[in-house]
Amino acid sequence: MGRVLIIGAGGVGTVVAKKVAQNSDVFTEIMLASRTKSKCDKIASEIQGVKIQTAAVDADNAPELVALMRSFKPELVINVALPYQDLHIMDACLEAGVNYLDTANYEPLDEAKFEYSWQWAYQERFKAAGLTAILGCGFDPGVTGVFTAYAAKHHFDEIHYLDIVDCNGGDHHKAFATNFNPEINIREITQKGRYYEDGQWKETEPQEIHKPLTYPNIGVRESYLLYHEELESLVKNYPTIKRARFWMTFGQEYLTHLRVMQNIGMTRIDPILYNGVEIVPIQFLKAVLPNPGELGENYTGETSIGCRIRGIKDGREQTYYVWNNCSHQAAYEETGAQGVSYTTGVPAAIGAMMFFRGLWRKPGVYNVEEFDPDPFMEQLKLQGLPWHEDFGLDLEL
Ligand code: NDP
Repeated sequence: MGRVLIIGAGGVGTVVAKKVAQNSDVFTEIMLASRTKSKCDKIASEIQGVKIQTAAVDADNAPELVALMRSFKPELVINVALPYQDLHIMDACLEAGVNYLDTANYEPLDEAKFEYSWQWAYQERFKAAGLTAILGCGFDPGVTGVFTAYAAKHHFDEIHYLDIVDCNGGDHHKAFATNFNPEINIREITQKGRYYEDGQWKETEPQEIHKPLTYPNIGVRESYLLYHEELESLVKNYPTIKRARFWMTFGQEYLTHLRVMQNIGMTRIDPILYNGVEIVPIQFLKAVLPNPGELGENYTGETSIGCRIRGIKDGREQTYYVWNNCSHQAAYEETGAQGVSYTTGVPAAIGAMMFFRGLWRKPGVYNVEEFDPDPFMEQLKLQGLPWHEDFGLDLEL
């Protein structure tokens, strides 16, 4: 019954393919397609017990995508290629009549924007076609939206303050590496910070605001305010929110490397001429940095991502913290990928399961918090991302 096309065979694609294959009661036929077919074949060779095919596809080429969709006839596409491909894949889905799920908002190649406007503009077309598009179904965005929806459904009458806290307390034993696609990761961190307060977006210099926060089972880590795409949909879908912020931990070593790369122009996203050839410095940088998909073997420690929320329940102030900790080593042992790929890929597979079970299925384009969080929260516990909650804590924020 469940024919699924996975596009992208990086760290996240590896986890999605393996997690989908573990749930063969829901996903009966899998096609894994990406730009480099050999990467798909390697992942497929590590999967048993379910029918998996592979293909080469350029996801920026809509006709090529449509042809692949028409021949394989999936019901759903899980897009874990890069954010640049989102609109091309959505266009192909509309043409071939296929539902859509991704983990990152569309990004134009030459501009770091991190906004949903382009994808939200597909709302009427998906509705008219009777197709579902589920946006941002990784961990953050993804589980953080589901956590917020769960808090709003069960623990608050009004959410007032939302702080999403993302700590990687792990060590990959490299001088510098990013935990997911370097180009997207560096674009995200080097842009200006932004948060929402009293109906307005407030801008900061990159890494201008920071404070030490305590993470369960990890300890105190310096945490930096940065803009993250789920803030946009969450403040829209929960209008009682007075302030919404996103915090991520970075070590001094990481920030020093980043500052040097920025200062010498290696993080530029505009093309330059090199020996008569146009190259984009950040794309060249990606080619020489460690592959995030291959960091897993020596990765120790845990990630800890959650939502710290303040608001009102039954007329009284309530504080709530909901989080997941994920061990890099456990993720590697199960899938061959490190914790950041794991915490992104597992939610994408669960989102797809929600779709196939008919629980997250409505024509149009939706962010994850617009669906029922309960069955998703239940699956997180079953699929390797158990979560915890606590009330009345000092949220430090
Ligand atoms: P990788 O760079 O490891 O993998 C990307 C994959 O997409 C590669 O297999 C690449 O192919 C393929 N690809 C790139 N361009 C095309 C194209 N035009 N056509 C077909 N395939 C293409 O990235 P990650 O696995 O680390 O990340 C995947 C996605 O997950 C990204 O969009 C990232 O932003 C998102 N993400 C989301 C998170 C969340 O919590 N929501 C967290 C982390 C990541 P090739 O190997 O040939 O280059």
